[in-house]
Amino acid sequence: MTPKRFRLVNLLLLISLLLLNGCNSPAPTTSVQQMVVATSISPLADLIRQVGGNKVKVINLVPAGSDPHEYEPKPTDVREVASSSLFFANGVGEELYLDKVIANAANPKLRTVILSDGLPILGKEQGSLGNPHLWLDVQNAKNYVEKIRDALSQTYPDQKSYFSQNATSYLAELTQLDQWIQTQISTLPPADRKMVVLHDAWVYYAKRYGLTFVQPLLHTGEAEPSAKDYADLINLVRQQKVRAVFSEAGFNPKLAQQLATETGVKYIDSLHDDTLGDTPDNNSYVAMMKSNTNSIVSALK
Ligand SMILES: [Zn+2]
Repeated sequence: MTPKRFRLVNLLLLISLLLLNGCNSPAPTTSVQQMVVATSISPLADLIRQVGGNKVKVINLVPAGSDPHEYEPKPTDVREVASSSLFFANGVGEELYLDKVIANAANPKLRTVILSDGLPILGKEQGSLGNPHLWLDVQNAKNYVEKIRDALSQTYPDQKSYFSQNATSYLAELTQLDQWIQTQISTLPPADRKMVVLHDAWVYYAKRYGLTFVQPLLHTGEAEPSAKDYADLINLVRQQKVRAVFSEAGFNPKLAQQLATETGVKYIDSLHDDTLGDTPDNNSYVAMMKSNTNSIVSALK
């Protein structure tokens, strides 16, 4: 080998070693331990994904499409919580299993953030914890997003500006969504803005967007309405000329169907509240809120 050729081979070897090394060395973002966070229901999981982007793996314990109020955690759920750094709970009784899961996960590094903390809770007058469905008012969802941004940034300070950027653009999208819902509901004649829904999830939505939440068939945590409550509700639908009865994904729709049949009003089964759906028009928080609003407006018109 001539000295010139020798130098060329060495140079090529050096370049390939450098290239190989470049490929193997971890990128700064993946050098930290994988960021795993847990939550209860799929609408909250979407809010966290919007802020966490591709840096955070989000686990929701309650499978999409099922009723969270009847949910019992499985051993696999406890293992997932055990490997998470944060648990984002809604609070107000949405996660009755929370203390048990956290105790069983025995993860001293786990931090729990209650998203509804500090926000006005409706329905406390019934002597219960109150109504947990705050996220159906977009203003509350925005507050949740701010809490998610702050908690992720505190836990993973390296990614603070990434979370902050994501949150800022998502909050702007939520502001638009909030205004859009108000505009849509305002097209309804005021006398027709009355909701009768299977379960009591819609009090925050109704209050924010100017509807009357007449009465649900079910209160969170209750199995069936009493015969008297059901008879009263039939009278209310007739007296108040309610135009539609709604049921929701994840719940047995039988009672709502029966009420609509007995009162002769429209029956709408497409609402989502405690769970996202699996089609593009309901598989994210924003899509779910838009399709809910479209269903409500077209049913009550
Ligand atoms: Zn619910």
